Amino acid sequence: MHAYLACFQPECGATYDITQVIYTCPRCGGLLEARYDGSPGEPWTLKQVFRERRMSNLPIDQSGVWRYRELFPFLDNAAHIVTLREGQTPLLDAPRAASYAGLHRFTVKHQGYNPTGSFKDNGMTCGASQAVRLGMKRVACVSTGNTSASMAAYASAAGLQPLVFIPNGNIAFGKLAQALEYGGQTLQVEANFDQILALVRRLAERLGIYLLNSVNPFRIEGQKSIVIEMLDQLDWRVPDWIVLPGGNLGNTSAIGKALRELLAWGFIDRLPRLAVVQAEGSAPFWQFMQSEHRGSFPVVEHPETLATAIKIGDPVSWPKALKEITDSGGVVERATEQEIADAKAQIGLCGIGCEPASAATLAGARKLVAAGVIDPGAEVVAILTGNVMKDPDYIYRYHTGQLVAPGQVAIQATFGNPPVVVPNDEDRIAALLG
Ligand SMILES: *Cc1c(COP(=O)(O)O)cnc(C)c1O
Ligand SMILES: [Zn+2]
Repeated sequence: MHAYLACFQPECGATYDITQVIYTCPRCGGLLEARYDGSPGEPWTLKQVFRERRMSNLPIDQSGVWRYRELFPFLDNAAHIVTLREGQTPLLDAPRAASYAGLHRFTVKHQGYNPTGSFKDNGMTCGASQAVRLGMKRVACVSTGNTSASMAAYASAAGLQPLVFIPNGNIAFGKLAQALEYGGQTLQVEANFDQILALVRRLAERLGIYLLNSVNPFRIEGQKSIVIEMLDQLDWRVPDWIVLPGGNLGNTSAIGKALRELLAWGFIDRLPRLAVVQAEGSAPFWQFMQSEHRGSFPVVEHPETLATAIKIGDPVSWPKALKEITDSGGVVERATEQEIADAKAQIGLCGIGCEPASAATLAGARKLVAAGVIDPGAEVVAILTGNVMKDPDYIYRYHTGQLVAPGQVAIQATFGNPPVVVPNDEDRIAALLG
C-alpha cells in the first residue's frame, strides 16, 4: 500500500510525502494523519498470519505492535524498527469492577504492562522508528509524564539522543525518574506548557530535532495496535463499548481510526461505541460535546486533577476525537476526583491496579450504566492506560485518608486499606486477626 500524510481538515485536503518532517499541515495548520491507498490484504489470511507470529522469535513478531505491521505500513524498511517488545498486553476479566459498575462483565485491556508502563510505548515504537528512518539524531517532547518516560527509553534503545522539556514546578516524580534513568537530557524551562511547545518547535527546526509530541501522526499509527490486539484477543468479536480516559485525545483518535480502517478493510463488520472519560476539573471535551452549537472549543485555562496524565486543558487532537465519537455513536463522560479514586481502589481489589487516569474508565462506565446509556448486559472493554506503580504516593494517601484533591477537597478513603501498627505481641495480633 502507498503511504502518505494527509491533512485531517476535509476543506483543505492537502497531502504530503510520508518522509516529510512536518507535524501539522503547512498549508492550513490542521492535524496530519497517515493514510494508505488500497487494502492491506485478505482479512482471514492476515488474521492467521498475526496468530502465527505469536510463535515466532523475531523481535518484530514478538512486539504486540509490529505483529500487526500490515495495518500501518508507513515504513519501507523493517531495519528501521526500534522495539522493546511493547504491546502484548493482557485482556483481563475484572468481575469485582463489573459489579461496582453495575455490569455483568467488565474486561480491561491493560496497557500498563508495557515496557515503560503505559500505552505511550505502543505509539513511541512507531515514532522512534520513523525518526530512525528519517536519519534523525535527536528527538524531543514536552511532557512531565508518561510520554517523556517512553520517549527516553525508545530513543536510547535506538541510539538517538532524547531531549525532554518539562514545565517548571510541574513534575510527576515517578515518570520523571524514568526519563532520567533512560538517559533523557532533561531541560526544565521557566514557562508554561504551551510556551515551551512553541519554543521546542522553533528549536526542532533550527537544530534538526525530531518532535515526538502527541500530534506526531506516527505515534497515532502505533496506538492503533491497542485495539487491533484487543480484537485479536477477542477472536475479532467486536465489543459493544470501549471506554478510555481522555487527555490530549490522541488515544481516542488512534482507536477510532483503527476501528474505521478495520471496518473499511473487512476485518470487522461493525464499530463498537467509544466512551471517553475526562476528569471533572479538566474536561473541555466533555463541555464541548454538551454544548448545543459546538462553536469554539472551550479551553480550560487551569486544568486541575490528581490524575495528572489527563490534566490537559487544551487537547490538541480534539478535532480527530470529535470525528471518532461522532462516527462510533460514542459519548463523553466526566468523573469527579472522588469517583476516580474509588474506582481505582476497586480496580486494585481485582488484583489488577492502574494509575489514576486509567481508573476514570471504571468511574465513567459506572455513571453511564446508572444513566442508562450503557446496558448492564453490554460487553464493555476499558483501556487501562498506565501501571499502578506510576503514582504510589496517590495510593498511600488514599488508603490512609490523606488524599487531597485540588481546591483542598479531602478525598474520602471509601475503600481505604491502611497499614495497622501493632505491638510485638502474638496474643494481641492473633486476637486482631480473629
Ligand atoms: C497519555 C495518557 C492518557 C491520556 O491519553 P491522551 O491520548 O492524551 O488522551 C491517559 N492515561 C495515561 C496513563 C496516559 O499516559
Ligand atoms: Zn491542511
